[in-house]
Amino acid sequence: MKGMRSWAEIDLSALERNLSLIRKTLPDEIRYVSVVKADAYGHGILPTAARLMQTGVDLFAVANVMEATEIREMASGWPILILGPLLEEEDEALLEYGLTPTLSSLHELKRFSKIARKRQTSIKVHLKVDTGMGRLGVWWEDAEELARRIASSKEIELSGLLTHFADPADTSFTEMQRIRFRKIHHFISLTSKQDLWVHADNSSSLPDLEKDSILNAVRIGLLQFGIKPRSGGLFSHLKVEPVLSFHSKLAIIKRLPSGTSLSYGREYRLSKTSRIGIICAGYGDAIPLHSGNRTSALIRGKAYPIVGRVTMDQTMVDLTNGPQNLAPGEQVTLIGKQLKEEISLSELARNVRTIPWELLCSITKRVPRIYVTNRQ
Ligand SMILES: *Cc1c(COP(=O)(O)O)cnc(C)c1O
Repeated sequence: MKGMRSWAEIDLSALERNLSLIRKTLPDEIRYVSVVKADAYGHGILPTAARLMQTGVDLFAVANVMEATEIREMASGWPILILGPLLEEEDEALLEYGLTPTLSSLHELKRFSKIARKRQTSIKVHLKVDTGMGRLGVWWEDAEELARRIASSKEIELSGLLTHFADPADTSFTEMQRIRFRKIHHFISLTSKQDLWVHADNSSSLPDLEKDSILNAVRIGLLQFGIKPRSGGLFSHLKVEPVLSFHSKLAIIKRLPSGTSLSYGREYRLSKTSRIGIICAGYGDAIPLHSGNRTSALIRGKAYPIVGRVTMDQTMVDLTNGPQNLAPGEQVTLIGKQLKEEISLSELARNVRTIPWELLCSITKRVPRIYVTNRQ
């Protein structure tokens, strides 16, 4: 990419294909909530949301009011659910921008009722139940009481019910969460005649969606960006493609004698005369601090080890085993494919002891996002 030191390439047609594939695999009655918080997992909210709208999303979910207004200013009609709690000073935005909050407490119910009353209108909410996550949501044993309060409120209209799983890999704990959720759902369905959105599964628990017949929607973030946290069930053969790749360039190549230590902390020492390349990106761009001696970089379709501690603006790579004609300016791929080689985001995350979600959120503002459409 000419004129660029480092960049993230975002393939919007891969995003589109992933979404179509997921939707095709889901049973017909299941609605699709597209989670695009944290700047669409680092992919850039506006181009991403625009493409998702064209492909078929039933509802967008974001973390907070600021993210919701970004989507709202782009498209007026789309339903937007805010997954995180609002601060009181943000409540007015619900009416101003027509947003749907998740509600976890009596405190929020009172606040939302107050602003709705003031404007003589009503607010739709999704009630969140804490069935074992220990984070947001009303604790499941207190949920019936809160549901009763919502039912008797004139200003607040229940339009959805959700919970969130703490550890989908732990099937017995997750089943216990599902049982608690079904209990609350049963209680609410006795009194509410509304057609509720009922949702719990995300990318990690999606394979077990079939275990629950009360659900009519899923909340998907990571999977639509082509990263599969776990497969199984309906989804084991799903061929999603990574949407994002990350690239940089070699700035300098130098020969260093055996015994030389590299970078801060002198954590790595050369055991022989070596050719070291300096990549013009560091943790100030998107390369995890702990990549040194744990991951590699692709150049001309071949993997070379990252060596020494990653610094803010530069990263060292050992090119000793590479062809003599490698030269400054050469493209380096740190996430993604080159010819037959690939460094997947999941593999990188495992190697540096983190999770794909965090890696995507660590691609900084310094990295331009380049949008491409690679039709197949
Ligand atoms: C982020 C988030 C999701 C999406 O999770 P993925 O694992 O990225 O699919 C779903 N629900 C809630 C409440 C979330 O915060």
